[in-house]
Amino acid sequence: MDRPQALETASRDALAAALGMLAPLLGERLSTAMPVRDQHGQDASYLPAVPPDAVAYPVDVDEVVFILKTCHTHRVPVIPFGTGTSCEGHVAALHGGICLDMSRMNAIEPASVADMTCRVGPGVTRKTLNAWLRDSGLFFPVDPGADASIGGMISTRASGTNAVRYGTMADHVVSLDVVLADGTQVRTASLARKSAAGYNLNQLMIGAEGTLGVIVSATLRLHPIPEAVETALIAFPSSATAIDCAIAIMGSGLPVARIEYLDDVQIRAVESYSKLGLSAGDTLIVECSGDPDTVSRQMAWITELAADFAPRTVTTAQSLEDRNRIWQARHDAWWAAIALRPGAKGIPTDSCVPVSRLAEAVEAARTDCADLGLTAPICGHVGDGNFHLCVVFDPDNDLEARNVETLLERLSRRAIALGGTITGEHGIGYGKRSYLAEEHGIAGLRTMAAVKRALDPRNIMNPGKIIAPGDLPPFD
Ligand SMILES: Cc1cc2nc3c(=O)[nH]c(=O)nc-3n(C[C@H](O)[C@H](O)[C@H](O)COP(=O)(O)OP(=O)(O)OC[C@H]3O[C@@H](n4cnc5c(N)ncnc54)[C@H](O)[C@@H]3O)c2cc1C
Repeated sequence: MDRPQALETASRDALAAALGMLAPLLGERLSTAMPVRDQHGQDASYLPAVPPDAVAYPVDVDEVVFILKTCHTHRVPVIPFGTGTSCEGHVAALHGGICLDMSRMNAIEPASVADMTCRVGPGVTRKTLNAWLRDSGLFFPVDPGADASIGGMISTRASGTNAVRYGTMADHVVSLDVVLADGTQVRTASLARKSAAGYNLNQLMIGAEGTLGVIVSATLRLHPIPEAVETALIAFPSSATAIDCAIAIMGSGLPVARIEYLDDVQIRAVESYSKLGLSAGDTLIVECSGDPDTVSRQMAWITELAADFAPRTVTTAQSLEDRNRIWQARHDAWWAAIALRPGAKGIPTDSCVPVSRLAEAVEAARTDCADLGLTAPICGHVGDGNFHLCVVFDPDNDLEARNVETLLERLSRRAIALGGTITGEHGIGYGKRSYLAEEHGIAGLRTMAAVKRALDPRNIMNPGKIIAPGDLPPFD
């Protein structure tokens, strides 16, 4: 695939002037070394990497303010960077500029057990946060597959297996400190549990993909660690029976903690990769958590409900060790998919539809893969109608690469046609920009563009992501 065209790259003079201002402040924390730049222009997608001109590692808010003021003055693009695990070219420096690696702003303040909140730097990763919280009896439930940074998770509106019970990143931000494009500092909300005071600036920043400002600290909502957890692994004869069972479980009103789907192709891939002794077949992993009696009653109800869908096998697990063995099937899904074809590339794409249309969407995606001769195991957060295809392909094979693009286009257009969204959790980056108008309409896109223009009039914040001037017809 071709490298994206830079429409208006930062002028060399402007860049040199900005770097000249930043170097004395940042010293070795400002790098123009090619390997460092390469690493920061690449995410987990198949999209071509575009390295920034330099990488800065700020350690505090004052440094972020100074960097943004400098880049704003000289009109140099700024691309915030967490851990680079996003999936739609989010961190590619399409117009050059300076990448802001936020990993060194990684302080965690003691949790407030009474408020069930914790304030963290944007560079803290979700696993580090949970390790820190362990003794407090609280945990942070949002769990994308990768050990992503909190700043990146907020900026992509991430979610994961726990979203069906606890919600997404959109439900876990109490308040943010953000530095806007010109260096202005904004606190998006108070620490109150709810507020009706004005526009909701939290939600504006959540999912903004670094296009509206840089998140420099976040107060997050936490939850008590459940007393007991039980997990079931249930294999079905078809995707339709597995998904219908998931819909029945959700419809029963049981507060399931997690409900994940792995299609037969994915299960076979995991079995070949991880040798867990899994039965073939479209599979659900269902988990309940809470007090021990309630959990065991709920699990009995779930296995009874599942019996109506003629499952091939049902395995339940209570101990941490046994539950971890079941979850390994889900955690290894991405690596198992890539291992299906050594040397091939994997694309983790996502799509989200109303739960009632999920079976149809999954079946159509499988038919597309068969028509186009592509291998793409499917797994997903089925309780939310959100599913992933991990497309395994050879990027040097032009026909395959074209077929992958056709598959992704059909997936996005079908999600919209079924009343869903082109992305439930990965975001837009520049990979899905071309479908955004189909989902939101031109009026929706213009509204987003007006917000972008108001907060970042010089278009220096991660330009070319989510929305670009060329995506809109001219105003009257
Ligand atoms: C194997 C695998 C599994 C995955 N599973 C899931 C999943 O289940 N659910 C899910 O939601 N995602 C998933 N992802 C995608 C990815 O992990 C998420 O999108 C994650 O939230 C990205 O975080 P990051 O720290 O890597 O951000 P980055 O990739 O570094 O950045 C993402 C975006 O956020 C912006 N950004 C980063 N930090 C800041 C900041 N401080 N201020 C402003 N903007 C900022 C960047 O400019 C960029 O636009 C998966 C990825 C992989 C590779």
